[in-house]
Amino acid sequence: MRSYVPSYELVSPATIDETLDLLASGNGTWKPFAGGTDLMVLLEAGKLPHRQYVNIWQLDDLRGIEVDQTRVTLRALTTYTDVQAHPVLHEEFPMLCQAAKETGGLAIQNRGTLGGNIVNASPAADSPPALLAYDAELELISKSGLRKIPYSKFHFGYKQMDIRADELLFAIHLPRSQSQRVHYYRKVGTRKAQAISKVCFAGVAEVTGNVVRQVRIALGSVAPIPIRCERTEAAIHNQPLTEGAIENAASTLAAEIAPIDDIRSTRDYRLRVSLNLLRDFLSRARQNPAR
Ligand SMILES: Cc1cc2nc3c(=O)[nH]c(=O)nc-3n(C[C@H](O)[C@H](O)[C@H](O)COP(=O)(O)OP(=O)(O)OC[C@H]3O[C@@H](n4cnc5c(N)ncnc54)[C@H](O)[C@@H]3O)c2cc1C
Repeated sequence: MRSYVPSYELVSPATIDETLDLLASGNGTWKPFAGGTDLMVLLEAGKLPHRQYVNIWQLDDLRGIEVDQTRVTLRALTTYTDVQAHPVLHEEFPMLCQAAKETGGLAIQNRGTLGGNIVNASPAADSPPALLAYDAELELISKSGLRKIPYSKFHFGYKQMDIRADELLFAIHLPRSQSQRVHYYRKVGTRKAQAISKVCFAGVAEVTGNVVRQVRIALGSVAPIPIRCERTEAAIHNQPLTEGAIENAASTLAAEIAPIDDIRSTRDYRLRVSLNLLRDFLSRARQNPAR
């Protein structure tokens, strides 16, 4: 493959304040550069319009995982390796750890960040379905201060999202749950490893006495953005997990998603796999209500 690297400028501010000053001054000309695992592919292919990059990798304020009584906070530069190494994430947010384990190879896991995965906004990315199912909240920072937004409201069209050019994604908050939950994450690709998803499914449910008390279902690669399937959730919420209720949820999901044919898969395959994964998730929740 021919590599085409145009001339560019990369600066590495020492502090987050300097970084935010730069972003605010540039009117959208400066692009944050975290692990670079998405950006380098585009840069080398000559597909990035930007010529000015601000390296954020060295900013300690954007690094670290904190746990308090109500939530786990992952700063934007948290890598997939960091996620996999964290005991609380393993115990309480296993779908995120699984997504991290199935993202790229070791080099990508050491360098790629959750912040980059979110802001790159690929509909086929592997962490977003898990983050949606866990009700993640994003925190953005700019010279005007911090603001929070539910992750489910962040993406609103293909590569369109609620972040301004003068803002950085600062942190991702995951609310902790006191309940026993069933967690179900499946990435379906061409191979078992190093594949881009054809369908990515994340479901989490609280089931008591065979009745679904809380449920979140999210999918990647079946729409222009990663989606939470709220109609399907409503169809199964407070329902006993009978065969009929599971089939009713599957019919609702079939009406809720509209996968497309593209280079990686077909509409029919994506739809069939999504429905099968939903059935499998709910059947497992019935057999094994608590994790
Ligand atoms: C070989 C290979 C395999 C891959 N496999 C997978 C896979 O299996 N699953 C998957 O989901 N992805 C995969 N990826 C994609 C990529 O590794 C991930 O999306 C990664 O998380 C991107 O993080 P990064 O820090 O490298 O982002 P970067 O490339 O640095 O940035 C990506 C985008 O996010 C923006 N950005 C980054 N951080 C911030 C921030 N804090 N605030 C505001 N904007 C920010 C950048 O400006 C850019 O637009 C793969 C990539 C490669 C090259």
